[in-house]
Amino acid sequence: MSAEKTIRGKTVAQWETEFPIMTEIRALKETAWINPGRVPFDEAARECVLSIDDVRDAEARLARFADYFEHEFPETAASHGIIESPVRPIPAMQRLLENECGGSVPGSMWIKLDSHLPISGSIKARGGIYEVLKTAEDIAVRHGLLHEGDPYRVFATKPFRDVFSQYSVAVGSTGNLGLSIGIISAKLGFRVTVHMSADARQWKKDLLRSKGVTVVEYPSDYSIAVAEGRRQAENDPYCHFVDDENSKTLFLGYTVAGLRLKQQLADAGVTVDAKHPLFVYLPCGVGGGPGGVAFGIKQVFGDAAHCFFAEPTHSCCMMLGMATGLDSDISVQDLGVDNRTIADGLAVGRASSFVGSVMRPMISGCYSLDDSRMYRMLAQLADTEDIRLEPSALAGMYGPVLLASGALAGYPAAAGLSAEDVANGTHLVWATGGNMVPAEEMQHYYEAGKALE
Ligand SMILES: *Cc1c(COP(=O)(O)O)cnc(C)c1O
Repeated sequence: MSAEKTIRGKTVAQWETEFPIMTEIRALKETAWINPGRVPFDEAARECVLSIDDVRDAEARLARFADYFEHEFPETAASHGIIESPVRPIPAMQRLLENECGGSVPGSMWIKLDSHLPISGSIKARGGIYEVLKTAEDIAVRHGLLHEGDPYRVFATKPFRDVFSQYSVAVGSTGNLGLSIGIISAKLGFRVTVHMSADARQWKKDLLRSKGVTVVEYPSDYSIAVAEGRRQAENDPYCHFVDDENSKTLFLGYTVAGLRLKQQLADAGVTVDAKHPLFVYLPCGVGGGPGGVAFGIKQVFGDAAHCFFAEPTHSCCMMLGMATGLDSDISVQDLGVDNRTIADGLAVGRASSFVGSVMRPMISGCYSLDDSRMYRMLAQLADTEDIRLEPSALAGMYGPVLLASGALAGYPAAAGLSAEDVANGTHLVWATGGNMVPAEEMQHYYEAGKALE
């Protein structure tokens, strides 16, 4: 007879009596969790292993590489080699959501279009590209290739490419991280292998192969693809493995978004302070992307920013890990939940323990939503605002409704915000991907969403 599986000495059933939210997760119910462990930002920052200095260091590295991008990726010429996305209000979508929920959504809804980031069309163009750049810079310095004051376009020259061709980069991915890492690594001249989970869309694999990237496919989910990639890279000193579950470098690449956002909102005339709170809703997979962005936002806005992670009901690993305090010691599969979702970027069953521990004192809460809701909002956003996103990127769109009159309605009072504060506030929906989705595939998503209206 085999012993029943235990987590930190208790069975899943025992954990469940302690944390009733696990019963809702097991039943695939849409639910939410407000973080009782959030502390004032200054306090959280003092205890944290990362600081604003780390964010500034990442920002400076991206600024050094701007010269390279401006020359090598024409789509970044307009922004002088800085990879950034626009932010804009979405009043028509806000009205539609208000009509649907039969109440008002106080505050103004805005969207951050990481779906339209240059080079790889998703939030992964932040962290994924950043980690490859840092790797390339480190190698260049080690080989004595880079000299003080060199313009970074030298990274495209033969001596650099010859050195990079001796190295390889590997990553495990549900799709978009592989796309970012693959495109930039191949461009710099690295050999690159992407280990793709079963959720990854065919067009992403095809596109990578067309750029000379080796794509290894797994019939299983994301954790297996990552573990296998890590194992294969382990014994090879010339292989850099981008560890989506644990990498601080990847995380820091995402954090720079906070600095950029501060400037963008100021330019747009949006005030953020204690009386004008900023609510940010971030689609969450393993946690690095949304965690890094939220971290950067907290660094610049402190207690005026309130960040939430959004996940599919079938893959709400971050909510499960945070609500139970078990972090990466528990997976949705431990509850019998299948980690199957149309939101391929979010199809992760076990959250990053690194992100869980860093964000625990800073994050406001988590919520889950059904795939059907993402599909429906996908079509609605296309109709109202002419913005086309992939399903994952819609997860944040439900947050303002939950905060106004749903499962997060208790949050403002718990956070010391009055109704007037919320009405003066801004809801920022982080749209994480979509611009590279082929038109035909996007049309299928749209029609699926229309059919559910
Ligand atoms: C990867 C991804 C996310 C989530 O990022 P994680 O780092 O996995 O949490 C959200 N949306 C899209 C479109 C993604 O590709």
